[in-house]
Amino acid sequence: MKFTKKQIDRYSRQIILKKIGVVGQKKLLKSSVLIIGVGGLGSPIAIYLAALGIGKIGIVDKDNVEISNLSRQIIFTTNDVKKNKSSIAIKKLKKINPSIQLKSFNKNLTIQNINQVAKNFDLIVDGSDNFRTRFLINDYCLQNKKILVSGAISKFDGQVYTFNFSKKKSPCLRCFIPNAPTEHDIDNCEYEGVLGTLGGIIGSIQANEVAKEILGIGDTLCGYILIIDGLKLTFRKVKLNKRSDCNCNEKK
Ligand SMILES: [Zn+2]
Repeated sequence: MKFTKKQIDRYSRQIILKKIGVVGQKKLLKSSVLIIGVGGLGSPIAIYLAALGIGKIGIVDKDNVEISNLSRQIIFTTNDVKKNKSSIAIKKLKKINPSIQLKSFNKNLTIQNINQVAKNFDLIVDGSDNFRTRFLINDYCLQNKKILVSGAISKFDGQVYTFNFSKKKSPCLRCFIPNAPTEHDIDNCEYEGVLGTLGGIIGSIQANEVAKEILGIGDTLCGYILIIDGLKLTFRKVKLNKRSDCNCNEKK
């Protein structure tokens, strides 16, 4: 892969970094990332990943844009209301970075279609808003040894966790939450509310983790959960151990 003059200009502020350079920028351009859900988290994740030059980005979302999404889903504008999120998001990303590959999946992820959708992507970013999808993605990434960068927001708080299932020591979501809550147990932001900026804070950290995992730089968040209190503005990195009776042990 040889850089064009335009690419060198576009990525110059990253290429100039010793820890990235031409070699790192090529790694980013050769990588592929699937973003699941383009909502409060998926919006900043998609914008940053396209801007920093991830070579191939897929976006999964079946929903249409609603007016109540606009307080936090910053990739959309008022004119987008009632249009499909994944296809609109792809159009916006094309404008941000026309030279990367983009693919929209206008569907809900299911156990039947997840392999078809995700198999051609190296890394999965979870920006979904329900536990059914979160556990589906966790189990798929675990089985297929893919890296998963996940985030969640509610009210004024947020969490980020990374699972690198190519590492034997990596815990999984089920180590952290042994019993998947049912939809009735969970208050998502539709009911609980959320301050829009939390999507930006958590989503940007998720995009930062994706870049670090691809580049192999810095300290990975794998094995920890980052808990952010947006009101007190505290960031706590809590050790997340593999549970000895979790499924993820059996499959290794
Ligand atoms: Zn586990």
